[in-house]
Amino acid sequence: MIHKFAEMLFQDVKSENETKKASIILRLNSIIMCIYFLLLLCTFFVTGDIKPIVLCVPLFCAYAASFYTTYLNRTKMSIIFVHILMGIWIIAFIRGFGWDCGVQHFVFVLLALNFTTSYSKLQWKIITGVALCLFRLALYAYTLQYEPVYLLEMRTYIIFQTINTVFVFIATMTILAVFTEDSQEMEKKLVIYNEKLHRLAAIDPLTGLFNRRSMSEYLEKKERECREGKIDNLSLALGDIDFFKAVNDNYGHECGDIVLRHLASIFIEMAGEKGRVCRWGGEEFLFAFDNVNGDDALILLEELQKRIRKLEMRYMGETIKVTMTFGLSEFDFQKDIEHSINDVDGKLYRGKEAGRNKIVY
Ligand code: GH3
Ligand code: MG
Ligand code: MG
Repeated sequence: MIHKFAEMLFQDVKSENETKKASIILRLNSIIMCIYFLLLLCTFFVTGDIKPIVLCVPLFCAYAASFYTTYLNRTKMSIIFVHILMGIWIIAFIRGFGWDCGVQHFVFVLLALNFTTSYSKLQWKIITGVALCLFRLALYAYTLQYEPVYLLEMRTYIIFQTINTVFVFIATMTILAVFTEDSQEMEKKLVIYNEKLHRLAAIDPLTGLFNRRSMSEYLEKKERECREGKIDNLSLALGDIDFFKAVNDNYGHECGDIVLRHLASIFIEMAGEKGRVCRWGGEEFLFAFDNVNGDDALILLEELQKRIRKLEMRYMGETIKVTMTFGLSEFDFQKDIEHSINDVDGKLYRGKEAGRNKIVY
């Protein structure tokens, strides 16, 4: 029962242009106001001041109707309805029972609703806020001039004031709680979503390695760090799988993909912590060894090459072995990073020309 009620309360709006936050606030506000009028009804009944009951019954029904309007997926209409309804009954109570009944405080609830549920521009919200302030002042000015139509007993005024204060607080707190909770949650969601997008934009989906775009950003940063003296050196290596086309031709494209993924996992393991590896192109990989000189990078690459040579990958009962050729050079501070990339590319080409399965340094 409670579960069903909660489900109904938090039911999403159908319209894509509206958030459910405003509807939930309006629904909760309607429920609070229904309880409020029910409580007033009981109070007036008990105290014997039964005249105001005439107002409580239709207002209870009006708020029940306002609850229903939030399911029509016309939140804007619901907001207008609630504003008009609240304005009317505040005027009616003030005229009927005077300033001392304390319903004028509900203008603050209206103010909170105005700022948390409306989709209007800030400008319009401020105008409405000023109008509400004037409305309250006008009510006060009116009560200074005219006596209320019906005077309640002192103890009824005291109970009435107390109920009003409690309900104004409950309604305002509920509205603000839903509003802030939802926006904080949205903010958190956005941060996570942004991080995810950022990660996805930087990663090659097949191998899980960084992609070319992300590597270019990284190299720009490293180039700056080199020039600013934050790191001593940077070595670059471009590796290309030998006769990879033959792997695809002999065993199929899927097998080629498996080989790429397998090699990528080894690259991350061997060189990941020394810098960064990326998938530069189809079966080409660029390695950036951070704060590692050319000689030390050569040792790392030789180890990597040995491991690749020993590697036996299984696909449909077949054993696949591959080799790789690398071009390696240390970043030259006098020139830009583009030059170093061209340099390793040239060396890779020479390695291929010289028979492949080589490191040209
Ligand atoms: P070389 O030793 O000269 O590098 O010879 P190669 O066959 O490796 O070079 P080539 O440039 O002729 O062929 C590269 C092949 O890599 C061709 C292309 O189909 C394959 N390839 C590129 N990207 C992918 C991919 O994502 N998956 C698979 N399975 N194959 C790919
Ligand atoms: Mg190749
Ligand atoms: Mg190639």
